[in-house]
Amino acid sequence: MRLKFLAALAALSANASAATPPLPVPPTPPRLLVVISIDQFSADLWDEYRPQFTRGLARLGMGTVFRNGYQSHAATETCPGHSTLLTGDRPSTTGIISNMWLDQSLSRSDKFVYCAEDPLAPGTSSTSYKVSDKHLRVPTLGDRMKAAWPGSRNVAISGKDRAAVMMSGHRADQRWYWNGNQFVTDLSGHTTPQVVARANAAVAAMLAAPGEGLQPPPFCSQKAQPVTLEGSGKVVGAGTLARAAGDATGFRASPQFDASTLALAAGMVQEMNLGRGSSPDLLAVSLSATDYVGHTYGPGGQEMCLQLLELDREIGDFLSFLDRSGVDYAVALSADHGGLDLPERLRARGVTDAARVDPALSATAMGKRIGQKLSLAGPVLIGDFSGDVYIDQSVRGADRTRVLTTALADYRAHTQVAAAYSREQIAKIAPPSGRPTGWTLLQKARASFDPERSGDIVVMLKPHIMPIVETSRYAATHGSPWDYDRRVPIAFWRKGLSPSAREDAVETADIMPTLAAMLGLPLGAPAIDGRCLDNVLGNVCPAR
Ligand code: ZN
Repeated sequence: MRLKFLAALAALSANASAATPPLPVPPTPPRLLVVISIDQFSADLWDEYRPQFTRGLARLGMGTVFRNGYQSHAATETCPGHSTLLTGDRPSTTGIISNMWLDQSLSRSDKFVYCAEDPLAPGTSSTSYKVSDKHLRVPTLGDRMKAAWPGSRNVAISGKDRAAVMMSGHRADQRWYWNGNQFVTDLSGHTTPQVVARANAAVAAMLAAPGEGLQPPPFCSQKAQPVTLEGSGKVVGAGTLARAAGDATGFRASPQFDASTLALAAGMVQEMNLGRGSSPDLLAVSLSATDYVGHTYGPGGQEMCLQLLELDREIGDFLSFLDRSGVDYAVALSADHGGLDLPERLRARGVTDAARVDPALSATAMGKRIGQKLSLAGPVLIGDFSGDVYIDQSVRGADRTRVLTTALADYRAHTQVAAAYSREQIAKIAPPSGRPTGWTLLQKARASFDPERSGDIVVMLKPHIMPIVETSRYAATHGSPWDYDRRVPIAFWRKGLSPSAREDAVETADIMPTLAAMLGLPLGAPAIDGRCLDNVLGNVCPAR
């Protein structure tokens, strides 16, 4: 696989210049900022695998590394997580409270809204949508760079559309993401770089061939313990990420997917001459395979081990490509959220409270029981097992109050529920401040709260309760307010600067102002939630 990636890069960089100009001495601002998000890359995985990394992730680990980074909010999903990375804001400010919320005022039959869609586009639904940035309420770093420096380019390449949209924002020059079949864009009026067609052809050829299984090194093979999943009887844990020819789902959950995303990103750097313009450029890359591997096999088995070691090599190849390009670049690395391992495997490893969620906790089942109790027809509650739960708009007046009171009591009485809050309870507290390690569950919920989009009730399950019952497709997930989902690594790297290991707890919302300071970009309105981190790559933060 590594050879294939190198071959793809070599093809992309066939006409690259061999000359490497000397690097300026920092703290001259870098000419290219590369921001890499590894989807579902928890700080737990970072801590565990860091000694195993030898290439790209090892190099980034030699920068300024915060092993206690926090996606500080409660709803630790991909869309909100990516929305914090380059805006400097928490989801309560970005407006991206979850991957999907409910808007009962919509005229279309599907009242759910996908975070990166235009729900007013005719003929769409939350699952068959038109990609859009309209729900993101704030500017991104790339947007701010373009406002300050019109020559600056804002580019995003991703395995997922929502990651590309949330990291680039409202003024992207190029934004390409995988649609299940090929890399596509939602932008119009921009010239399509030639590298897109070449990358798509290379990926199509890769996908059409079978994906060979990877050879596990001893560190991975010692994790190869088969686990039988409740619900489906499926066995995972000892896989090698092999897939059949043409299996797009298997491709997505393999290192080939990230290799393809990185190859396209490298091609963009080359063709657009990123880092060589009149102003600094931004390249955001979101690598999605780790998330698909985590969902399919859980993050604790041989499969994740193979994925992460391969990803280390792939990022190494990508950074080597940037080195050869001669561009003065800086890298920031983080993740949109962490993840929880399979309850079956956790229990075998001594985590005795790990369990799959009680099916009776689904909003549909809860709503049905409450409807019967209160003699109300209809669905009553809409939502999932946890997170935002909405009272159906047909329930009004005194009935709505009765449903709310009963639902809060029923949720709170359940042994798997840690907390249930009404929207009124969440709305009335101040946004949290101080270290994200000390926040209450209610404060975490406040950081995920938007008055127009949040549910009437927010439900939080106890630690190690996996909100997946049916395991034939996905076995594990994230989304909770617990640290296995909230804590992520945040690393800043630039050539020639010495390593610094930081233990202080910081937020992913701190990444944007830190990078802005590195670029010498003043942050005017709107004010942000995050703060510039001092002593990062020779950074000098503006006076607060
Ligand atoms: Zn994610």
